[in-house]
Amino acid sequence: IAENERRWSWVEVDLGAIRNNIVVAKRRLKPGCRLLAVVKADAYGHGSVEVAKTALSAGASYLAVATVQEGVKLREAGITAPVLMLSEPPEAAIPLLLNYNIMPSVYTAEFAVAYGEAADAHGLRAPFHLALNTGMNRIGVRFDEAVEFVRQISFHRALEHVGTFTHFATADCPETLDFNMQFRRFTEAVSDMRVAGINPGIVHCANSAALLRYPDTHLDMARFGISLYGFHPCPETVGYFDLHPAMSVHARITNVSQPPMSEGVSYGLHYRSTGSVKICTLPIGYADGYNRALSSRAQVIYNGQLCNQVGNICMDQCMFEIDMRSSGTRPRLDPQIGDEVLLVGAQGGARISIDDMAEQIGTIPHELCCAFGLRMPKVYT
Ligand code: PLP
Repeated sequence: IAENERRWSWVEVDLGAIRNNIVVAKRRLKPGCRLLAVVKADAYGHGSVEVAKTALSAGASYLAVATVQEGVKLREAGITAPVLMLSEPPEAAIPLLLNYNIMPSVYTAEFAVAYGEAADAHGLRAPFHLALNTGMNRIGVRFDEAVEFVRQISFHRALEHVGTFTHFATADCPETLDFNMQFRRFTEAVSDMRVAGINPGIVHCANSAALLRYPDTHLDMARFGISLYGFHPCPETVGYFDLHPAMSVHARITNVSQPPMSEGVSYGLHYRSTGSVKICTLPIGYADGYNRALSSRAQVIYNGQLCNQVGNICMDQCMFEIDMRSSGTRPRLDPQIGDEVLLVGAQGGARISIDDMAEQIGTIPHELCCAFGLRMPKVYT
């Protein structure tokens, strides 16, 4: 039995869309530039193992995760491509890094030495990518201290400096001053390293926005995250790249009622029925990623028609209404328990996008995707 038959709400992930988005990126990339698929946070909610396998078969050659456990999950699924963890884990996680061949980012001497010593004790190498802080001020060795830092840890024979990277804070913003400054600081730090006789390894800085907008930033590798999943990183790329969203969200009706006029629906009874609507319940709530801030603002697609979600979205359920008055050319709907409803996706000319949903509640699609991926079964198509 498929998981989505046991639970009437599920996420569908179109792996063909993932493949398409990799091809879009590859076409844009400078020749010889590797593509890293960012599959952290369970591939932004899409399922890391399936997305990683698809991305690798479509032309990506590197993977990135946020936690050691995410890397272990890829290895246990038999994935052998290089896996980069985008930060330093606690020292207690070093044995897992070594056992599962997951490369950490490095930016403190304490971690670097502990990692090198642990590797040495087992006769292993300790590969890492050096993270540079060029202005985002999240993690990384400050750009103008890179040479000194590498020299400081270079005594350790097991450490293997495989790559050097930074991350942009504003590659998706219209204003380019800060972006240009970060890029300049990064290329200068890399060139300082080379002058000092340090091999920076694979040099990379581009995220999705930089990959699509600024080919100069491609260097040796680009890290493709949000656009791997079909989202434009910013309005500037819309119309230029044929990205396909991979995620759609589905549920089946679990209850149909027709409350008398003025009766309320859901917690607080803020929504009041006109008496001529059917209220349909869906088994999806904010614990499934259907953000509570969307309450009474979201729409769903039933039978190719947009219908209003009504009342507060509950933890595990929510309601939408179907107007039973005849209305022009719209066919009269007759909702039944078990009928399929689309919460994100397109059907019969109607479309609901995670982008629009995110904008409605003042967040970014990343957050909504991650949340939709947390509890619902996933179906791959
Ligand atoms: N590189 C690093 C270090 C990141 O933290 C992220 C995601 O936040 C990415 C790359 C991917 O960025 P995007 O999803 O904008 O492509």
